[in-house]
Amino acid sequence: MSCAKSMRCSKCGGVHDLSEGLLMCPKGDKGRLDIIYDYDSARETLGRGAVENRKSGLWKCFELLPTAESNCPKLGIGGTPIIKAERLSPFIGIDNLILKDETRGPTSSFKDRSMAVGIAKAIELGYRTTVTASSGNAAAALSAQSAAAGLNCVAFVVEIAASEKLAQLLSYGAKVVRVRGLGSEDPTVKMMLSSYNEFGWYLCPSFGPFNPYQVEGPKTISFEICEQLGWALPDWILVPSGAGCFMAGLWKGFKDFHELGLIDSIPHLVVVQSSGNAPIVRAFQQGKRGHNIDPWEKPDTIATGLEDPYPWDGDAALEAVDETGGTCIAVNDDSIILAQRLLASKQGIFGEPSGVAGLAGLMALMNDGLIDRKDRVLLPITGSGLKDLGPIKQEVESVPTIDAGLEAFKRLGLDQLCAQVPGPIIHQKRDNL
Ligand SMILES: *Cc1c(COP(=O)(O)O)cnc(C)c1O
Repeated sequence: MSCAKSMRCSKCGGVHDLSEGLLMCPKGDKGRLDIIYDYDSARETLGRGAVENRKSGLWKCFELLPTAESNCPKLGIGGTPIIKAERLSPFIGIDNLILKDETRGPTSSFKDRSMAVGIAKAIELGYRTTVTASSGNAAAALSAQSAAAGLNCVAFVVEIAASEKLAQLLSYGAKVVRVRGLGSEDPTVKMMLSSYNEFGWYLCPSFGPFNPYQVEGPKTISFEICEQLGWALPDWILVPSGAGCFMAGLWKGFKDFHELGLIDSIPHLVVVQSSGNAPIVRAFQQGKRGHNIDPWEKPDTIATGLEDPYPWDGDAALEAVDETGGTCIAVNDDSIILAQRLLASKQGIFGEPSGVAGLAGLMALMNDGLIDRKDRVLLPITGSGLKDLGPIKQEVESVPTIDAGLEAFKRLGLDQLCAQVPGPIIHQKRDNL
């Protein structure tokens, strides 16, 4: 059974009973309602043995989630693999690099986890329609799971939202509306809130102040990391960050396990943002904390999943960094593209630009001397490259076309390239084949 007992506003500190079913702080101050658990009860059933022996998946540590699995559509979310980056590590100059591959799942990003908990709660509370303010991975995950749960889904998107992204939402049957304008107030968030007030729809963007359950889904990544690494945690985790909800969730997951006595310490957590949209990094450098973080003026980055100028959960993300002795770093588009290419070509994992920003951050922090080659580092790869082919498209134009004949092929010199050994071969034993 869930051991969630109450919720507390991150801004005003007001405590509310879970049964009130609140999505926002009633004071209207846009604080996040953080879910509080009864750890004494959770400790009774949730030890290391239980974590190791229960079936894999998002709901494994159900004591530490705010609603029951039975409310959730069955799409097979969570339980993603940990991969030791043996081929990639030498190219980065690090001994011990571990990847958590979140590119797998119904809509190929970790947002599937956030929305699984969000939708389960919508069903528990009896809502029929979900509403969001996004055209990206969050909206894709929400519309897929709304479809699977038999709920309507309405997505308010910015005017310039890319058509491939909208195509995905439409396929899941979401009702998509472009909203004009940009200013100090996000027009899509404004529409989302108006429709909540007018029609009573279930607010479900991928950040905390409008949906307290969004922080809870990413916690399950931390739970899995602890178990999959045999409870020996890495020194550092580098976290691609936009609104900061993912970071807030990862940290909360580790804190939960720490509170239960399942782990002794928490890795240094690092916020990685794109230099084209880095409000949390800027606040870190300026010493600003809490709810005083200024939004980014003109977001411009290929990492569209990190392009949220309003750092809704930046308060918690910065607390995570401070409390764990981590740091914040911004990386530019070129380094993100390099990271994407390295990860795919050296390790066989194709992440989207937002999904690989952690790797770009790692290269920068090793360069700065903050992370040492002996440190154990984990990178969550948060979304699949297939979701955003923009950066690769140009290169496709340079693919050569030849008449079918070996002479023409040889003139390209590719056979010569293939004669070179690309690096040490790392192979699995094939005994069982
Ligand atoms: C949303 C997203 C992030 C960042 O998560 P926040 O909670 O906004 O910080 C990172 N990677 C991908 C692929 C995403 O879709």
